[in-house]
Amino acid sequence: MTTGGQPLTSILDAPGVPPVRTLFGLWNDELSESLREFGLPKYRVRQLETALYRQKLADISEITTWPADLRKRVVEAGFRVGLPEIVDTFRSVDGTERYLIAGSDGQTVETVWMPEGDGGEEGDSDEAPPARTWSRATICVSSQIGCAVNCQFCLTAKLGIIRNLSAGEIAGQVAAVLKKHDAEPGKDRINLVFMGMGEPFLNYDAFMAAVRLLAGPMEIPESRMTVSTSGIVPGILRFAHEKVRPKLAISLNAPNDAIREGIMPITRKWSIAEVIEAVRQIPLRQKERVTFEYVLLGGVNDQQEHADEVVKLVRRAPFPAKVNLIAWNPGPEVPFTMPRPDDVARFQERLRHHGVPAFIRRPRGRDIYAACGQLKRTVASQ
Ligand code: SF4
Repeated sequence: MTTGGQPLTSILDAPGVPPVRTLFGLWNDELSESLREFGLPKYRVRQLETALYRQKLADISEITTWPADLRKRVVEAGFRVGLPEIVDTFRSVDGTERYLIAGSDGQTVETVWMPEGDGGEEGDSDEAPPARTWSRATICVSSQIGCAVNCQFCLTAKLGIIRNLSAGEIAGQVAAVLKKHDAEPGKDRINLVFMGMGEPFLNYDAFMAAVRLLAGPMEIPESRMTVSTSGIVPGILRFAHEKVRPKLAISLNAPNDAIREGIMPITRKWSIAEVIEAVRQIPLRQKERVTFEYVLLGGVNDQQEHADEVVKLVRRAPFPAKVNLIAWNPGPEVPFTMPRPDDVARFQERLRHHGVPAFIRRPRGRDIYAACGQLKRTVASQ
């Protein structure tokens, strides 16, 4: 298994000073192995897991279930918790918050908290949202700093790829945000969407190690997680074999390959048909549907003839599917226009008229650049 943790980097070069070793991101056998020199019995490792993933303690000295002497020896050997830290917060008028979260090398990544967000579940359940504002929330998580996929409508693409995040850095975004809101996955309804910066399937091993960590000691059910891919076929084929996996969303955004190539160059590598064939390999759970995400760009892919093609495409897909429509969120230097509201409504109507479940996603945090495709600004300015 790929290590769930960050690389054990040495940032202290002074002779006699042990290298800093990060614990957050490791669990189970990985923790026992990293701390082998202390010969910890299983229950001590479990206490550490509780401290890291349930209590989300930031410092080894706070682990009061461990004797003071053990804490001291572990710190002296160079170990640190390494819980990612929120270094900046932007608040939207709609309650959405966007965070800059610092990784081990000081690079920041963006994560979004959407209280009352529906986690891509609209249409999946009749359950009414509970009264407490943050008892139902969605966290939008990044998997890379920047992105190599180069979707033409996306601000993150402007960064190019800077680097992959480790499993600890991916799961750590969730831990940092839960801690900030004093939210408990066992008690509060927390959804995760891997739709932040980056293409999760181009950082596959770290992404899936983070999923196991989140579904394991962090206790977030896999059924409350959704990963969105631009259509990385080898990643989808690997995903089909995972025992623990989020729900899948395909970022479709066009009714055919010709239009998709213009806005998503990745289509030249894998056509829509190839992506659909790969998705067919995934054994879906009962009542599970695959989501097609569709960003509507004014005059490009939002007309009635496009809706008719999408109807055919979804009805021919050999698995149950639904469509999430997203009116494009504007960004500087991105050469598109927002769709007209009545075009968005008519697009949805057309899909529904032909029996295709279609939902319009409410834009969240547009004013703080937290909405879909807008995550970039702050990183870029550093
Ligand atoms: S939309 Fe997603 S996959 Fe495409 S460039 Fe942006 S972050 Fe990457």
